Amino acid sequence: MTKPRTFRIAAIPADGVGTEVVAAGRAVLDALAENSDGAFAFDWEEFPWGCDYYGKTGKMIDDDGLERLKEFDAIYFGAVGWPTVPDHISLWGLRLKICQNFDQWANIRPVHFLPGVQSPLRKADHTELDWVVVRENSEGEYAGLGGRNLSGRGPGGEVAIQSALFTEVGCERVMRFAFDLARTRDRRKVSSVTKSNAQQYGMVLWDEVFKRVAQDYPDVETESVLVDAMSAKFVLRPEDLSVVVASNLNADILSDLGSALAGSLGLAASANLNPERRYPSMFEPVHGSAPDIAGQGLANPIGAVGSAALMLEHFGLPEQAARLNRAIEATTAAGVLTRDVGGTATTEDVTKALIGHLTN
Ligand code: ATP
Ligand code: MG
Repeated sequence: MTKPRTFRIAAIPADGVGTEVVAAGRAVLDALAENSDGAFAFDWEEFPWGCDYYGKTGKMIDDDGLERLKEFDAIYFGAVGWPTVPDHISLWGLRLKICQNFDQWANIRPVHFLPGVQSPLRKADHTELDWVVVRENSEGEYAGLGGRNLSGRGPGGEVAIQSALFTEVGCERVMRFAFDLARTRDRRKVSSVTKSNAQQYGMVLWDEVFKRVAQDYPDVETESVLVDAMSAKFVLRPEDLSVVVASNLNADILSDLGSALAGSLGLAASANLNPERRYPSMFEPVHGSAPDIAGQGLANPIGAVGSAALMLEHFGLPEQAARLNRAIEATTAAGVLTRDVGGTATTEDVTKALIGHLTN
């Protein structure tokens, strides 16, 4: 037997349900590897970083944390954030720090219906919902530009300014990524989302770059839609979308809307990619740490397991990713559903069902 290809993965479960869904995802991935006839293996190292760690050490991540993470083929992340630690410390101190330092400028968030899962849209006439939100993940509205306590401006009281950063290179690379992705899909279409009628600098630049990049992809259908209109379109004409490319804030909001339309935030997967592969990419469910249900075994692990499927694609194992996605569909079709999607199954029940579909 040839030596299995071993992928080194850094697991960072972090906070709340993050720890529960990462444990589930690891168990499912290990079952997949064990049933791969020795073709590949995963070598895990788990890191304790997160809000608990902050409480004990005053740090969200060790000083040499990023250096250590660099050595891995990928990062498998849970969720960061807890009510006792302000978001600007927890989120910026760990997740965004990794995204920015590892230049993970493309964030992809696929959304599709799953068999057996009731979507608010399925009550209407829609049978199709299958799209990918491509989120600009390095600049835009989350560039951290601005300031507070700017006295002497405005009608009085404290003044704060929050700016957005749009660069031609930043826009162009995420758009090319979206077009290349569209070429791999049945429906070759890219929808660009802005609010360029009201935000006349950055978003107008975005629109101009989109028009120019589109010329290099004459085989891909395009449209430019304002974010308010796109929110309505997500609900009213989801079958008309394939790849949706948007700035950091707009895509963040639209992808939560998309996952809710598919049935639950707990189903949504995502990948933070460094497409040049200079640094490890990071795979994580879209949802947060869900303090309201944490520690009760109620978390839906499918978003995290779907993120693991995206990681397998990134490793160049598309058949294994498809195997995992088929196991997800078989599990939901069989009615093994957590509470957020109307069932009574626990995280563990769903994990066992997923593993059962991989090993049979
Ligand atoms: P963040 O700011 O990190 O995105 P958030 O404030 O958007 O977090 P979440 O932690 O994602 O909030 O939770 C939003 C809602 O979705 C909560 O009611 C939570 O219980 C539910 N939820 C989130 N993740 C899951 C999951 N995996 N399974 C079931 N329900 C979930
Ligand atoms: Mg959220």
